[in-house]
Parts: sequence; C-alpha cells; structure tokens
Amino acid sequence: MAARVQAAGRTKNNATEAGTTRSQWLEEGMERFDVTIIGGGPVGLFGTALASLHGMKTKLIESLPQLGGQLVTLYPEKYVYDVAGFPEVLAKDLASHLIDQALRYHPTISLNQTVSRLEASPDGAYQLCTETATHETRTILITSGLGSFIPRRLPEPSAEAFVDHGIYYFVPPLAHFQGKRIVVIGGGDSALDWARAIADIAAHVTLVHRRGEFRGQQATVDHLQGHPRVTIRTFAECVQFRGQENLEEVVLADHRSHTEETLAADAVVAALGFVPDLGRLKEWGLNLKGGSIVVEGPMRTNRPGIYAAGDVTTYEGKEKLIATGFGEVGNALGHIRGYLDPRKRGGLPHSSNLKIQV
Ligand SMILES: Cc1cc2nc3c(=O)[nH]c(=O)nc-3n(C[C@H](O)[C@H](O)[C@H](O)COP(=O)(O)OP(=O)(O)OC[C@H]3O[C@@H](n4cnc5c(N)ncnc54)[C@H](O)[C@@H]3O)c2cc1C
Repeated sequence: MAARVQAAGRTKNNATEAGTTRSQWLEEGMERFDVTIIGGGPVGLFGTALASLHGMKTKLIESLPQLGGQLVTLYPEKYVYDVAGFPEVLAKDLASHLIDQALRYHPTISLNQTVSRLEASPDGAYQLCTETATHETRTILITSGLGSFIPRRLPEPSAEAFVDHGIYYFVPPLAHFQGKRIVVIGGGDSALDWARAIADIAAHVTLVHRRGEFRGQQATVDHLQGHPRVTIRTFAECVQFRGQENLEEVVLADHRSHTEETLAADAVVAALGFVPDLGRLKEWGLNLKGGSIVVEGPMRTNRPGIYAAGDVTTYEGKEKLIATGFGEVGNALGHIRGYLDPRKRGGLPHSSNLKIQV
C-alpha cells in the first residue's frame, strides 16, 4: 500500500519527490483520522512516522507545497551537527530522510493547505478547515513551528525593488552565489552560518552587523575573522540599495566614523530573523505566551485532545531545537495513543518489540 499524498491546487515539489514517486494522489474524503498533525517540518514529519508506526490513522497537513519546514525553507544548504545519529547532515538531506521515514508507514499527507478554523464535534472529535477542505480528526497534534514564514524586512525603502533580484530573505541554492560579491546582513546564528557557507564559494563576503557583538556562536565568528575572503563590518548598516533591474551596489554607513561607503554587490542575504505567526490558530482558545502555545508535561494544551510539539510550544526551560522537538513529539504521541484508547496508556512501546510490515 502506498502513502497517500493529497494536494490542493498546484502540487509536487522537490522535498516530497522521494515520497511522491511511491505515492498516489487521491481525492479528499471526509474520513475521520485518529490524529491530524498540523505542520510538516522535522517535528511534524517525525510525529507522522511515529503515529502511523504505532497504528494510529494519521494525517499530516502542510501549508507549503513542500515538506521539511525550516530545514528546506530557511537553510537547506547548511550542515546540522546536533541531530542524534548524524555527525553532520545537510539540512535538506535530513528533511529527505525524515520524509522517507514518515511516508514509510502510509499516512495521508495534504500539501498546499493552511489550517485556519477549528470546530468541535459533539462527540469530542474536531473538524479542521483549510481554504479547500475540511479534515475530521479525533485528536490534533500542532507542530506548526514558526507558523507562516514571515521574514523581518530591511527597513530601507530602496530594498523593496530588489527583493529576489539581488536581495534575498529566503536563500536560493548556494551555486547562485558562485564567484560573486555577497553582502550578508545580521548578527545572529543565521547570518553567521550563511556568511560561512557562502564564503566557501563566493568571490567575497561582507558581513554587516549594526552592533559590536554578534549574538551567534563565537566559533563561527572566529572562523569568519580568519577567512581570507570575508570582511566583517560591525557598527555598520546598509542604508541604500542601488542598481538597474538587479542589485549592483550597497551604501554602507559606519556608525562610529559617521562615514558612508559604496560597495559593489551582486547579492544581499538579509538574515534578520523571522517573525513567528500562529495565524488563525491564535483564535482557537489555546493558552498562548509570546506567540507560542503553552503546553504541560505530556505536551498537552488546555483543550482536550489537542497537543503541540516543536518550535510552536513554550514551557519553562524550552529549547527550540530539532532534537528537543523529536523528544516532545514522542512524548505527545504516547499520550495521544492513551487518549484515543485508555487501555494503551503508559506511553509508546519500544519499536524494537513491534512486528513491522511496510
Ligand atoms: C538558520 C537556522 C539554522 C538552524 N540550525 C539548527 C541546528 O543546527 N540544530 C537544531 O536543532 N535546530 C536548528 N534550527 C532550528 C530548527 O530548524 C527548528 O527547531 C525546527 O525546524 C523546528 O521544527 P518544527 O517542525 O517544530 O517547525 P518548522 O520547521 O517551523 O515547521 C513547521 C511547518 O508547519 C507549517 N505550518 C505552519 N502553520 C501551518 C498551518 N496553519 N497549516 C498547515 N501547515 C502549517 C509550516 O509551513 C512549516 O512547514 C535552525 C533554525 C534556523 C532558522
């Protein structure tokens, strides 16, 4: 039996390619699922694998036309070094492994659908509404991460004309920067990591940060400081972007010397972070704190049958890491299984005790 991948409107994408070659594209029905997972990032994908491995009838809904979440949308070409079992792995490859694992146990996957409305049925089940469909489910697991990916924009009006014509909030494949002069803007891990990755192939990288100290890892700052093709400009800001159709130069203001300088630039990567936005999920009556969903011990929200895991959640001591999200989603599904069938309370059994047929 193949995994079922459903999509609204335009479909198919690179990240799901591995899965869709083994998949059918079926019409949506009003089947009731045991668990519906909202968000196909790493945590939702691992949750999809676990839920279906443990016999729950599982659906995953993803708003983008591709699976993988931040791994494929924000940093596909970067190496990740802190996921168990992988000494180092490219983010897009990690996503691909997770997609393979999720599709192995035949879940139903709906792409291109953003969950917006929630309706409770009298018998305790829920209906989840997207622009194009209604999904019926006994429980819900929210793994919507950052929510919609809304990048923090450059404040200078001259930047707008060059978005995707030299100014990038979503980084294209790195080959795009081969042999070019690149400006990376930002002071966090994202800016530092992109500067490092791009420096390996670009003619030159200028890293611009308006403060004196970087918020990201010192080891990466040290690496960039010693890199022959990297210039670091702190206390500096890009105040103007110029060019014809495509970006050609950037005006850099130095806040200490109060001088301005024009840099030739083929591209700017604006790594200023993303604004988390839960979208319509904010209206579901869930306890929220700082734009995240408050969960208790077993990743339970304040509404019965609704659980959450991954970056979307908050609790004391929360770390927004892939490894943390994997643990959280296992915990959540152990409790969802017990919620669905009280005889199965007590968490997920060891998978090594299962007899698996795929
Ligand atoms: C540049 C960068 C580097 C990073 N490096 C590391 C690292 O080295 N190690 C590490 O552990 N972590 C790293 N992280 C953090 C890591 O990527 C996140 O912790 C992880 O992606 C969280 O996974 P998630 O599944 O919870 O959410 P996400 O990856 O954000 O996925 C959520 C998914 O839900 C979908 N969605 C949202 N709302 C809806 C809706 N209403 N309906 C349907 N779908 C919806 C989104 O489209 C998205 O695909 C990094 C992050 C960034 C930005």
